[in-house]
Amino acid sequence: MSLKKQLKNNEIGISLDNIFKLAKLALMKHGADEENADAVANTIMIAERDGSISHGLFRIPGYIKALKSGKVNGRAKPILEKITPVIFRCNGQNGFASLAHQHSIPPLSIAAKKFGIAIVAIQRSHHFAALWPEVESISYSGLVGLTCLSYLPWVAPNGGKTPLFGTNPLAFSWPRPEKDPIVFDMATSSMAMGDVQIAARDGQQVPLGTGLSEFGKPTKNPAEIIKGVLLPFGGHKGSAISMMVELLAGPLIGEAFSYESGKRDNGDGGPAQGGQFIMALSPDILSGHDWENQAKIFFKKFEDIEGSRLPGAQRFANRKNKGVRKVNKILLETVKNLSN
Ligand code: NDP
Repeated sequence: MSLKKQLKNNEIGISLDNIFKLAKLALMKHGADEENADAVANTIMIAERDGSISHGLFRIPGYIKALKSGKVNGRAKPILEKITPVIFRCNGQNGFASLAHQHSIPPLSIAAKKFGIAIVAIQRSHHFAALWPEVESISYSGLVGLTCLSYLPWVAPNGGKTPLFGTNPLAFSWPRPEKDPIVFDMATSSMAMGDVQIAARDGQQVPLGTGLSEFGKPTKNPAEIIKGVLLPFGGHKGSAISMMVELLAGPLIGEAFSYESGKRDNGDGGPAQGGQFIMALSPDILSGHDWENQAKIFFKKFEDIEGSRLPGAQRFANRKNKGVRKVNKILLETVKNLSN
């Protein structure tokens, strides 16, 4: 079917190249320098490429609000410190997280390849995107990657109605020689807030159990959840994992809990300041064994199970399509206006 026929009334087609150019223009127009704009525009382009649409162009208005209010420094130069041979601290200097990743992930991977493990504590940065790019790049160096971060307090602990946790994403990636890594990347809330916002924008309902209204009642209406509270995925189990993320991406790395980020945020709608925990592990050094083949057999068994599919598979399939992406018309118009 031609793209024109596939497009819904509210959608328009745009190439990946133009997504990057438009995002970069909008960011530079509002004070980002070329290095920061390149890093963020690339994050936006690869999100659209892989179908992570709630972290693509949809985020531009928020990025711009943060530049306009001065919450984010669009000219930040992250500073990476080596605390021990395997522990790094990256001060994002109040900039966007994408540039802090560019500064810290290559040295992190080199250290993990040499010593078996390495961790970077990212501080004072503003993350508004998906986490898979970080762990994926670690695994393309033959390493296992794990990362998490907390965010604004939108999620109630299991059983509660008062927000304390962020949507607290957690991503993991496993290297496969000659193949794409196995990656999962998920919010520990029942749904990422960006997806709730998109559902509200598009007049769609969300599954019961996603969140509660401001009156503490279960609702399928995303607009009511935005005013109320999200719930963790998987009841008490998701709640415990979300608590772990708060601790790993907060006090462990000298950064804030979600509720503390919420207090210091100026409410401009842009990404809040926070930290990110990133760890890389070397199976070559840790296992002393034929880990590649062992894992290969496991993944074969996994894929042979009818009805199952490996996490990340959908994104890698989307990536094969180099063609134009479908984008909401009003959103594209907004981004174009921001870049003029
Ligand atoms: P999803 O629920 O869409 O997906 C979570 C993971 O499960 C993905 O790795 C996905 O792989 C995999 N998956 C989905 N369906 C299946 C299936 N049927 N079988 C096997 N695996 C499957 O993600 P979320 O909505 O929870 O999160 C979306 C994004 O939001 C994440 O990228 C996260 O990092 C981001 N986020 C960012 C925040 C921030 O503050 N920066 C805050 C919260 C979330 P696949 O992609 O292949 O479908």
